[in-house]
Amino acid sequence: MKTLQVKTKQRDQMIEITGQVQAVVREAGVDRGAVTVFVPHTTAGITINENADPDVVHDFLMQLDEMVPWNQPFYLHGEGNSASHVKASMMGSSVTVIIEGGQLQLGTWQGIWFCEFDGPRTRKVWVRLDEA
Ligand code: ZN
Repeated sequence: MKTLQVKTKQRDQMIEITGQVQAVVREAGVDRGAVTVFVPHTTAGITINENADPDVVHDFLMQLDEMVPWNQPFYLHGEGNSASHVKASMMGSSVTVIIEGGQLQLGTWQGIWFCEFDGPRTRKVWVRLDEA
């Protein structure tokens, strides 16, 4: 297993890590198998979505904010970051991508996105390779 580091600069931010994950696959020399990318945090998540138009990321974060506002009168969690926890679970903690010919098998417009919801912070992402 390999640990990647992701430094975030905003409270809510999506950072594409496809290149870093592909680099782990390349360095390990895995030709065929699968990679699991796992985020060991409760206020950050991971997802696969479009990496061509940056407006998609903008719209994504704005819509999440609208669905899960930072302040709600009913929030009880004392740390004050309930919205971060909810958004993290909406995105999920892991993605799995197939590897063929040493390459991540992603659709033409797909990228792997680390999703920060309580930044700025330095985060960890665990990458686990399984060779077939
Ligand atoms: Zn909390």
